[in-house]
Amino acid sequence: MATMEQVRGNTYVINTKSCCIPCYFMDPDTVILLDSGIAGSNGRELFELMEEKDLTVRAVQTSHAHFDHNGNHKPLREKYGATIYASVFNAAVMQNQVAMKSYLIDDTWHELLTKGSSVFCAVDWVIDADQTHVTVDDVTFEVLPLPGHSPEHIGFVTPDGVAYLADVLVSTPQLKEIRLPYIICAEPHLETLKWLRKQKYSAYILAHRGWYEDIGPFIDQNEARLENNLQMTWSMLSSPMTQEECAAALMNHLNVNCRTTFQWMSCNQTVRAMMQYLVDQGKVVKVIRNNKIYYSWV
Ligand SMILES: [Zn+2]
Repeated sequence: MATMEQVRGNTYVINTKSCCIPCYFMDPDTVILLDSGIAGSNGRELFELMEEKDLTVRAVQTSHAHFDHNGNHKPLREKYGATIYASVFNAAVMQNQVAMKSYLIDDTWHELLTKGSSVFCAVDWVIDADQTHVTVDDVTFEVLPLPGHSPEHIGFVTPDGVAYLADVLVSTPQLKEIRLPYIICAEPHLETLKWLRKQKYSAYILAHRGWYEDIGPFIDQNEARLENNLQMTWSMLSSPMTQEECAAALMNHLNVNCRTTFQWMSCNQTVRAMMQYLVDQGKVVKVIRNNKIYYSWV
């Protein structure tokens, strides 16, 4: 079963097998969750914990619509009447399957309907792009724009001054396992890391995983990992390659062994984001030849 750990004041973290779910106590019986983990085993752990502690979930805030962050929104809404909050983009893809298809372009329609079923959920409250705070009854959270890992990826600061950073940073142990931390767009992600370095909150919660008072080393490691992966991507392109050829070459070089199409899709999207960043930086060009786009050194 999941465990619950106090971070500061009314801010706790729920440790499930695969991720950390921040939890804010509005009163001794009522909580607000920041994300909801993965459907299935995570969900069972989460619901068991809520029942054991006799808690009601008043609301769920969404950092982004990835299956390991919003997999239990729907059952929480159904069981507790939890109000679901999400930003404009994430609300769109959570509520519209074709919108989700335009986001997860490598899935077939039927794969999306099957795999994605747990991430579809009605959203009760849309967080606008320029919104700096979200209030649930009399509890106000600061909204942190943290783009790059995914579109409209956002964090939240609880009234105790604890910042939930969702997937911006991967912790050191997980960074050893994850060779290509997922990003959808490199430039905003690098800017988010730079911005984060200047912030000061009393504690930080990472979805993957744990909570920390000092995230400086993680910022350095995550930034170094991306810079290193960008350098390797650039090295691969000494001879022209298509996007998929370059992704496969980099994955082989890093000993990434994709066992599922989902793993491949995550890695491929990350490499695509890095190749596009190199084009924007003027280090790589893309040309069309024989109806294929090739990337190569300038
Ligand atoms: Zn994510």
